[in-house]
Amino acid sequence: MADLSPCLLVHYAEIGLKGRNRPLFERRLIANIEHGLAPISPVRVRRLYGRVMVELEPGHEEEAIARLRRVFGIAYFAPALACPPEMEAIREAALRVIEGHTAASFAVRAKRADKSFPHPSQEINQEIGGLVARETGWPVNLGDPALTVRIEVVDRRCFVFCDRMEGRRGLPVGVSGQVVALLSGGIDSPVAAARMMRRGCRVSFVHFHSFPYTNAASQEKVVGLVGLLGRYQGPGELHQIPLLDIQRHIVGHAPSSLRVLLYRRAMVRLAAEIARRLKAPALVTGESLGQVASQTLANLTAVDRCSPIPILRPLLGWDKEEIIDEAKRLGTFDLSIEPHEDCCSFLEPKEPATRSTDRKLSAVEHALELEPLLAAALAQVEVRVVEAEA
Ligand code: ATP
Ligand code: MG
Repeated sequence: MADLSPCLLVHYAEIGLKGRNRPLFERRLIANIEHGLAPISPVRVRRLYGRVMVELEPGHEEEAIARLRRVFGIAYFAPALACPPEMEAIREAALRVIEGHTAASFAVRAKRADKSFPHPSQEINQEIGGLVARETGWPVNLGDPALTVRIEVVDRRCFVFCDRMEGRRGLPVGVSGQVVALLSGGIDSPVAAARMMRRGCRVSFVHFHSFPYTNAASQEKVVGLVGLLGRYQGPGELHQIPLLDIQRHIVGHAPSSLRVLLYRRAMVRLAAEIARRLKAPALVTGESLGQVASQTLANLTAVDRCSPIPILRPLLGWDKEEIIDEAKRLGTFDLSIEPHEDCCSFLEPKEPATRSTDRKLSAVEHALELEPLLAAALAQVEVRVVEAEA
């Protein structure tokens, strides 16, 4: 009997391609996998050539799989049997991994990354293919097999598996730096934040509330969203900022058609200050071109002009249906559609401007003398670290 030990074999996504940055990405991915699996103890995560091996105590595989599905940077992963790089052990492992399967056809695909193993891939394919055909009677189909038995020889180990599971791809959170996302209680902004995580960003959050006009439950909903998004990056910092005094001032002293844009520019200025404090070089919003009046090209541009740092809009070219589908996949949709009171629907004008300009808004803002109100809002920021939902 060979020594066959169950494990999870993880293949990375793009990080294999990143040249000199590769060790950095690999270390980050491994740290993120360790962090993601930390509630399942004990777990051992090892780096191999181009892959990661996760060893678990028996009985934790399902939970580990669910958790690995949330780690960005993984292309795919598989429950595998690890065995010594010896043909006899590979034979035994291959028969073990197909136990319980029935297949209309099959193929064996071997990869030999470790050339110290004396048998070339083709020889492994033939040897194990012959064995499986004899044992099961399944026909070989190399073009479109119903079941694929995979064998990988890496770093003086061999892995045998057949069920490959899709990872979320993208880049490991942390390799692209930090951004500050403007998080409402709606559907779009959590998706936008997650898209940035998927490109390797760690995301901190800013939420604006109009308490006591908007209720405390709406703020708790946002805390819940940060917790759900934490499944993809770990704990998140949430900055809650009161906007009510600024809104009242705008409502009292500016044309109603410009209200939403003036609120938005105030939000952007305040969020940019939080970003400065956190040394984050960019903001993120859930805006999508043309979705509502405040998101026309003219209005988005007019908002951009007031921001000292770039505003990233990962959903700019997305349809609402696409955003909803992604929110469902992420697990934020159900919470996002729970009723809440949004600070922007508060005193929303009947006819919002669709074509505003920076010049026009700047002139109105100049007369409004918002500076002291912005400073007062910043003096009342409440920061909390929100743990990831289980
Ligand atoms: P969402 O579904 O994210 O609320 P939306 O389609 O409802 O987006 P708007 O309400 O116009 O669009 O908001 C546009 C963007 O402005 C949001 O995606 C979010 O990034 C930001 N935003 C709006 N309201 C708030 C808020 N109260 N706090 C923080 N950010 C906000
Ligand atoms: Mg909204």
